[in-house]
Amino acid sequence: MNPRSLRSAPDSSALVSGIMAGERAVLARAITLIESKRADHQTAARALVQELLPRTGDAVRVGITGAPGVGKSTSIDALGTYLTGKGYKVAVLTVDPSSRRTGGSILGDKTRMPRLASDTNAFIRPSPASGTLGGVGAKTRETMLLTEAAGYDVVLVETVGIGQSEITVADMTDFFLVLMLPGAGDELQGLKKGVIELADMIAINKADGDNLPRAKLTAAEYGAALHILAPASPNWSPPVVTYSARTGEGVAALWTHILDHRQKLTASGELAARRGAQQVKWMWAMLEERLFAPLRSDRALKNALPKLEADVASGRLAPAAAVEKIAAIFKL
Ligand code: GDP
Repeated sequence: MNPRSLRSAPDSSALVSGIMAGERAVLARAITLIESKRADHQTAARALVQELLPRTGDAVRVGITGAPGVGKSTSIDALGTYLTGKGYKVAVLTVDPSSRRTGGSILGDKTRMPRLASDTNAFIRPSPASGTLGGVGAKTRETMLLTEAAGYDVVLVETVGIGQSEITVADMTDFFLVLMLPGAGDELQGLKKGVIELADMIAINKADGDNLPRAKLTAAEYGAALHILAPASPNWSPPVVTYSARTGEGVAALWTHILDHRQKLTASGELAARRGAQQVKWMWAMLEERLFAPLRSDRALKNALPKLEADVASGRLAPAAAVEKIAAIFKL
């Protein structure tokens, strides 16, 4: 939607009732409000999220990550279509670290998921195109809440496997699914240990045709690697599975594992604790974002920063001394 169509802050009660009625156009409009940088829009967005909060929290929140080409969009298309076929309403959101730098978005294109894009029980919303990762993450989280209030039962939050964005997504979801390719098991695909530690399941995609034996072998290798790590939860040992997003083989089993995890963590109280901790972390992230915003947009500081950074980089200025100068500029 063109942000200009939100020139004035829209009527919040119309948004609330439209969202609760599951009207997609209203949902899209409300998300645009959340993504808007205008102060009055942000105030309206905060009020909207607060008002809808009692209607949120029922969805199964699944984070999905993997390197480019691993088959994220094919997998989300397959899993999402499987779920809408079972009668669920599915929302697909993205946290896209690329959009920060390029202004474009590698995960933003709806045509990556052709079946879901034309499915009336699915709602795909690309990542907002700008902002810091913390900011983008906060907007995706609030978007997730809106989709839940609109009656979506499953929220799939996708990110590309680049650094911090995975933590951002793991911090807003109940279940973190890490996708891998067959065969690259030698170095365990640059085994980003941090990511494996976040994983609630590792799924090796493209287990079809000639790839099948390699996929099984890779799964066994990851299984062994996971075995060494102490599980993050006393109630869940992350499984390693193989599947094919292309043929659909193993896609239903992905969902079975997700539900099994949900059942176990709900019974033990861990899911509620995880969500509670996420909320608190979210509060701090938003506070940080808010405190930093005036700093980032301060003109005097912007002008001074390149030289300060260069001086710190070259060793002419101690970092602590630079912080003093910045604090002086900003009258901290
Ligand atoms: P993304 O970049 O992670 O979103 O990956 P895509 O979903 O775009 O898939 C990358 C490529 O892998 C495409 O050419 C897909 O057709 C192919 N692909 C995805 N899933 C499978 C699969 O299960 N089996 C095979 N053989 N190819 C797949």
